[in-house]
Amino acid sequence: MALGLLRCVVCGASAYYQGLHEHLVAKHPELVEVRGAPHASYAVECPVCHERYEQRIKRGSAAESFLTEFERDVRLVGGDILLQHLIGEHAALVIESGDEKEADDHG
Ligand SMILES: [Zn+2]
Ligand SMILES: [Zn+2]
Repeated sequence: MALGLLRCVVCGASAYYQGLHEHLVAKHPELVEVRGAPHASYAVECPVCHERYEQRIKRGSAAESFLTEFERDVRLVGGDILLQHLIGEHAALVIESGDEKEADDHG
């Protein structure tokens, strides 16, 4: 799909889908909450409208070792859900307009 540049709703950084997905996971880990008890699950909270998505992790065990090992994968999934939600529900905030504007790439 050709979405063009997207903007991070938390800090305003611009990136294409894949880059913004990685950005959300790496820079805003608080957006995806991973829980181990009583069942392994994760929760994603939209920073714009605070809608929450909660999902059980369908995996054999909720042992601590499981969470440590799979937390990154779970965060990637959660980040993807959040990004899909942002594009679907808050397109005006996340999709950069086609304005000719110099990329402002301050770290
Ligand atoms: Zn950001
Ligand atoms: Zn939202």
